[in-house]
Amino acid sequence: MGNGTGGAKLRVLVVGGGGREHCLVWKLAQSPRVAQLFAAPGNAGIAELAECVDIAASEARRLVDFAVKKAVDLTVVGPELPLTLGIVDEFEARGLRIFGASREAAALEGSKVFAKRLMKKYQIPTGFFQTFYRAEDAKRYIQEVGAPVVVKADGLAAGKGAVVCATVHDAVDAVTRIMEDRVFGDAGSRVVVEEFLTGEEASFLAFTDGETVLPMPSTQDHKAVLDDDRGPNTGGMGAYSPAPVVTEAVHAKIMTQVMVPTVKAMAAEGRPYRGVLYAGLMIKEGEPKVLEFNARFGDPEAQPLVMRMESDLVPILEAVIDRRLRDIDVRWRPEPAVCVVMAAAGYPGPHDTGKPISGLAAAAALRDVMVFHAGTARRGDAVVTNGGRVLGVTALGRDISDAIARAYGAVAKIRWDGVHYRSDIGRKAVKRTA
Ligand code: AMP
Repeated sequence: MGNGTGGAKLRVLVVGGGGREHCLVWKLAQSPRVAQLFAAPGNAGIAELAECVDIAASEARRLVDFAVKKAVDLTVVGPELPLTLGIVDEFEARGLRIFGASREAAALEGSKVFAKRLMKKYQIPTGFFQTFYRAEDAKRYIQEVGAPVVVKADGLAAGKGAVVCATVHDAVDAVTRIMEDRVFGDAGSRVVVEEFLTGEEASFLAFTDGETVLPMPSTQDHKAVLDDDRGPNTGGMGAYSPAPVVTEAVHAKIMTQVMVPTVKAMAAEGRPYRGVLYAGLMIKEGEPKVLEFNARFGDPEAQPLVMRMESDLVPILEAVIDRRLRDIDVRWRPEPAVCVVMAAAGYPGPHDTGKPISGLAAAAALRDVMVFHAGTARRGDAVVTNGGRVLGVTALGRDISDAIARAYGAVAKIRWDGVHYRSDIGRKAVKRTA
């Protein structure tokens, strides 16, 4: 069927309620193939395009029941937690069509130990590492190798489980917090102590049906909370696409050394990988090394990517499920896109909620700008903050500088008490293209 608009009209459910899910819902709402859209749990922005259902993304059983009851034809999973808990397996066991990685495939994100061992076994380029089950062993090793070094909790930690440590003292302290204080719960029962890599980061995402790997344009995330990559790591404070550090030659290397071998490795391990495969990479002198894998669209990377996607998303999702991705060709807009995350006071630490947001309509009225909601809720007529990352303001531009100017032009129209955001999203890309 290729990329045509033919085919049955679908009832579609999007699982999640962040900026990534808002942009997926926004894209799906434009598809001629979509008859009805649901989101669980959604947010105030999603509610303008889809019927929001009050079920948490992690409640797979309730979501399956809902999907059966409403005769949902296609479910799309945004966040990692339901994937690692096995939502895809549960839906498939009930005969439902769902886009996402199975529980065993999502271990690539759910366990850093699994991911690192897989990379080692299949010679996928990554930093040197050791795994530890006991804090004292990890600390002894850190004393031996010295700093800088990176300490990572094995399991999911909302993007905050990797601690880059400039000194041995910091690294020992990170082990104490992760393994002894259990700040990330059971995610810290094992740690990976990893070589500190230098270079420039990029995110590389691809659709895969377990065989064909269909790359998306490159992107770059901004993890640290403050300008110039200072301050603690967050879920992501902004992103742009394309990332000029991923030249054509680097793109080819990422495909042949990382993406294709990883999909093959997962198949060889009896964990066929279908869905979005996301590699977080460090690139130095044109050589990519993997920092981490994610089993889903990145957030905020999804936002500039989806804005650049010209093709209908539905046929791509269906081709992944039906294992005929080789028939699909995705068209992307040539214009770069930039997403600036606006966050609540305190984020990435404890943050406040319930602050009324002004200026949303004025920002949304700007051409080629989308204000994707992440942590928002409706209170009467007002839209209020309801999460750490509140909005992902995303713009397309003639070039990267124009996209940056448009995104920040929209950001300037939006306000709430305590809002903060980085003012340098995309600056690295401008430097590279200058
Ligand atoms: P991860 O969750 O593993 O991607 O780590 C989050 C962030 O920590 C990355 O985006 C990097 O900025 C940083 N990081 C992780 N691993 C390393 C490493 N081995 N060397 C340098 N920085 C790293």
